[in-house]
Amino acid sequence: MAKPEKLIENGIRLDGRRPDELRPIKIKVGVLNRADGSCYFEFGLNKVIAAVYGPREVHPRHMQKSNSAVVRYKYNMASFSVEDRKRPGPDRRSIEVSKVSREALEPVIFQEYFPRSAIDIFVEVLQADAGTRTAGINAASLALADAGIPMKSLVSACAVGKVDDTLVLDLNKDEDNYGQADMPVAMTPDGKITLLQMDGHLSGDEFKEGLEMAKKGCLEIAQLQRAALLEKYATRMDGESNE
Ligand code: ADP
Repeated sequence: MAKPEKLIENGIRLDGRRPDELRPIKIKVGVLNRADGSCYFEFGLNKVIAAVYGPREVHPRHMQKSNSAVVRYKYNMASFSVEDRKRPGPDRRSIEVSKVSREALEPVIFQEYFPRSAIDIFVEVLQADAGTRTAGINAASLALADAGIPMKSLVSACAVGKVDDTLVLDLNKDEDNYGQADMPVAMTPDGKITLLQMDGHLSGDEFKEGLEMAKKGCLEIAQLQRAALLEKYATRMDGESNE
């Protein structure tokens, strides 16, 4: 889409959201039979799937750690996930996203429980509309829980940014393309930040206000994540299964 004249009009964004509103979220835990844990996550028009394998043997062997598990995270965008076909395979961006996403999750995983083993996280982006790294982290966090990996807490992620001189939560593609700043954040429900990146420019005050908006967004997401886990794992008293 060509640059719109305005991204916000009378306090409402082009997709009808208020500045502090997240896009609609849909979550389904346990969607892949072969993975130890999995999750499908929709974040507006983003559609991602996360699969977790492990703890399992490390190959190649020399990568193993004697006192903890190694966590590996592979983020991949399907070639059909974006408007113009994306060239398949890893590139600089996917390597960066994989690294920061792994670092966003490692602090909550009890890696020391599984020496000499690997926990492999795969995130496949099926449809992209800005915010795929945050959608991937939200999905991966649930896939880890679904795999029964002991964790201190879940991790939730969303971005905050600036468009038309206004701070906005959870940028969509046009806002990301034509906005002034984009700041993805991941955190635990008790406010420990595990990912913070910034593209563009925010003043000190905007940064503080934006971080507060991101925190509220992450807490909202955390509630939906918990509900999605309960949907799969809560025991029903009427004897019916949740499947
Ligand atoms: P994120 O998806 O985490 O917001 P970026 O800010 O790097 O990550 O990307 C923003 C959006 O730009 C992506 O969600 C996707 O819609 C689009 N995009 C990223 N890489 C490509 C690519 N190689 N080809 C086309 N679109 C892309």
